[in-house]
Amino acid sequence: MRGVGFTEMTVRDGRRMSAWQSFVAPILGHPALTVTTSALIDRVVVENGRAVGVEYLVDGERQVARAEAEVVLAGGTIGSPAILLRSGVGPAAHLRDLGIDVVADVAGVGENLHDHPLISVVYEAKKPLPAGTNNLLEAQFYADSAGWTGAAPDLQPLFLHLVYPAEGYEMPEHGYTIAAGIVAPKSRGTLRLASADPTVPALVDPRILTDPYDLEALCDAIEMSREVGAQRAFDEWREREVAPGPDATSRDDIRAFARRSVGTYHHQAGTCRMGVDELAVVDPRLRVRGVEGLRVADASIMPVVPSGNTNAPSIMVGEKAAELILG
Ligand SMILES: Cc1cc2nc3c(=O)[nH]c(=O)nc-3n(C[C@H](O)[C@H](O)[C@H](O)COP(=O)(O)OP(=O)(O)OC[C@H]3O[C@@H](n4cnc5c(N)ncnc54)[C@H](O)[C@@H]3O)c2cc1C
Repeated sequence: MRGVGFTEMTVRDGRRMSAWQSFVAPILGHPALTVTTSALIDRVVVENGRAVGVEYLVDGERQVARAEAEVVLAGGTIGSPAILLRSGVGPAAHLRDLGIDVVADVAGVGENLHDHPLISVVYEAKKPLPAGTNNLLEAQFYADSAGWTGAAPDLQPLFLHLVYPAEGYEMPEHGYTIAAGIVAPKSRGTLRLASADPTVPALVDPRILTDPYDLEALCDAIEMSREVGAQRAFDEWREREVAPGPDATSRDDIRAFARRSVGTYHHQAGTCRMGVDELAVVDPRLRVRGVEGLRVADASIMPVVPSGNTNAPSIMVGEKAAELILG
């Protein structure tokens, strides 16, 4: 993976394709498929240790869908653990605090939350940029931070054909961004419920940069991004570096910028981690520990976020789940 390349995309005939467009829309008329939109899943219905359906709200009205074979949750890294917790599957003490009956004491639900932290090194352009030719996230490079010995690289700076704002800075009208990202973060956060009410958002504590490695790796990525941005190839376009800006000269300045302006690359993973240990939430066949007939199939099952962007890997989790279920 090391080196520079154009961004890979999920496209067909020049149009970006979502999982819905690719997998569901083509079979909408299938008699075995019912699609209900605007449905908020409250919880999985568990009877005698077995998942037999889901309870959900549509326009505030409570409904139940019964499952003949099994229930598969695909609510994502934020949604799936929240549904499990409301279903009584999670750390027993937390469930009791919320008045939720414990169905299975699974300590790992909502643990291991992590993401790819990202921060924008922003440039003002001398003139308006022409239209992008890719998806505006035009190109990226993979590299190693100082001392990194992993098989895959741990840094992923991106070239964005637009101003991707850096928190705390005034943004120019015309510009471009080299966003510094780290893809092997060590910090881990948590997801907990604030309430048993499904309309109340979950409590998400990402604990970004709590591991010192993450901060230093992010600083390495920022320095690389600035080095790229200062190259002569950009002379025609670069008016000035806006963030972190010319005043950021020392490593401590870069650290301060990292802490001030770090954001998310939206690649959250890990809250229903797959594994065979006590903290695992699903087994290697994606079955939830302690409940029969229940699987999770989304980015939440990833034990460790992949080094690349997470959309295609999430789709692969879905395809693997289908194979396991059919098998
Ligand atoms: C702004 C943004 C940009 C991104 N860009 C890229 C990119 O360029 N490339 C890339 O590879 N990845 C990208 N990602 C990441 C990628 O989209 C995710 O990793 C991927 O979609 C995760 O898939 P998933 O199935 O785990 O969860 P999701 O795709 O989030 O699907 C979960 C679904 O469950 C629904 N849901 C959750 N809880 C409930 C509930 N209680 N009741 C009913 N429904 C519920 C949600 O509404 C959602 O539709 C981006 C993400 C974001 C947010």
